[in-house]
Parts: sequence; structure tokens; C-alpha cells
Amino acid sequence: MKNFAKKDELQQYLSGLKADGAVITFVPTMGALHQGHLSLIQQARQLGNIVVCSIFVNPTQFNDPKDLEKYPRPIQDDIKKLEQVNCDVLFNPDVTEMYAGNEKWHLDIGELEGLLEGKFRPGHYQGVTQVVYKLFNIVKPDIALFGQKDYQQVLVIQKMIDLLQLPVKLEMCPIMREPDGLAMSSRNIHLTADDRQRALVLSKALNYVKDHFSPEQVDQLQQEAIAIINNESGVNLAYFEIADGNNLHPANKNTKNFVALVAATVGKTRLIDNMLLKIDE
Ligand code: AMP
Repeated sequence: MKNFAKKDELQQYLSGLKADGAVITFVPTMGALHQGHLSLIQQARQLGNIVVCSIFVNPTQFNDPKDLEKYPRPIQDDIKKLEQVNCDVLFNPDVTEMYAGNEKWHLDIGELEGLLEGKFRPGHYQGVTQVVYKLFNIVKPDIALFGQKDYQQVLVIQKMIDLLQLPVKLEMCPIMREPDGLAMSSRNIHLTADDRQRALVLSKALNYVKDHFSPEQVDQLQQEAIAIINNESGVNLAYFEIADGNNLHPANKNTKNFVALVAATVGKTRLIDNMLLKIDE
């Protein structure tokens, strides 16, 4: 695997491959890689010729400085994992390589800015679009892969692609879970053994809604899911919402694609999860 810290060197390397007709696929990450990330790399392998993964803990998307400071950065382990899944190129820049100083950035992403994660993490999606825009400019991928785990992020990135007419196709990949249902996350290592058990209530509540889903019962199911989570000690619910998967508005009678989304703090760790809901026919 080629490993670049400098954007100019990466760009030079990739432009040669592009000129030879290579399809570049790109998986942006913040590292502390787990099977969820690696499933994106594996999917990227299927879709193109050259797989680029970036590892960059982006300061502008953290609204809590403590969260940024304690974000895990096991770069040597990450490199080994990427080599095991035959990633072709790693881009692992320093903050100074990505940001010249205090840069101004604002992209009007409409209502997504203030809904769900946007409401609870002000400025988060401005930081996300800022860094992903920069990374797209450097890598110039044909296809970029993002996880359904961050469902709202997928909608936000697609909105940016549409608004700025970026020449990249976005691919959403399924959520990888531990055998007991917990969605894989780099933040799971912060969970104590007890928290780890408590955190299962999130996927339990999502599965409950999925198993009992009917569009006429959205409000009731939402209340039941909230009750399931509130019943678990040490779990502080931020939101549980059954929403329209196209725009994250609360689901209504015109909704066709439903998604249930949850965020909660378990012990000291903030976790998110979601599930796509199907209507039985
Ligand atoms: P992160 O390092 O948290 O920024 O995540 C990098 C990418 O991996 C994002 O597109 C995430 O949605 C995706 N991802 C994170 N966790 C999972 C998971 N459990 N399953 C699939 N993809 C994931």
C-alpha cells in the first residue's frame, strides 16, 4: 500500500493512474478502523481499480474539544488492517496539510443543518462538508463510499454533490454490527463493560420498530421505542425518530421510505444508530 501525507504527492500519483484510465474509489475515514470501515474498502474494491482511503481526524467537525482530544488514533494498527484488505493508497495528512489557518466555510445544506444530528451538534455538518469537499478536490474520486451508519451524513454529502455539481458518485454501504447487534463504531472502545451491555438497547429498540413496523403506527412505535431506551439505566436518549428517509422530516402519510434514527449517550460515550424500515406488502 502506498502511504501519502502530502496532498501534492498524492495528487501527482493519482493523476498518472487516472490518465491511464483507472477508476478511483475513495473511502474517507477518521481512523480507528473496524470491520465497518473495512467493509467500505472491500466494496470500493468491487467498484473500481484503485482504492484510496483517507485517515484524518478532522478538527472542524467536532463541537466538543474533549471528544476531539480523546478520539482514538491507532495509526499503525490501521495501516495493517488496510493492507489486509488490499487497500491501494492511504492518505494520512496532518492538520496543517489540510487547513491553512482559520478558514471560513459555509454551505447551505438547508433543513438537514438543523434536524436530528444537526440540531444536537451545531456546526458538525459544516465541518464535515468542509473536509469532504477538500478531500474530493485532492483525490478526485469517481466513486466515494460512505456508511449508512451516518445516515444523515450521506444525505448531507449528496446534497453537497448536487449543489456544487461535483463529478463524483456517492455509494451508501450497509451498517456492520457486532454479533449481538451493536453497531460498530470507533467510539465503542470508550464503553466500559457495563456500558457496552447497556448500549445494546439502541439496536434492540430499532429492531423492535423494524419488526412491528406499519406506517399507520409510526407515533405509537416511536413512543414505545423511546420507552424501551428510557427504561435502561445509564442511557441518556437524545432522540429516537421515525423519519422520511429522503429528507429526515418526521414521517407522515406521504412518506414512502422510512428510517428510524437514534442517538444516545451511554455512560460518557455518544452513540448513533439507525435502521431502514420496510412496509410489508
Ligand atoms: P468515521 O471514521 O467514523 O468517520 O467513518 C468513516 C466511514 O465509515 C463513514 O462513511 C461511516 O459511515 C462508515 N462507518 C462507520 N461505522 C460503520 C459501520 N458500523 N458499518 C458501516 N460503515 C461504517
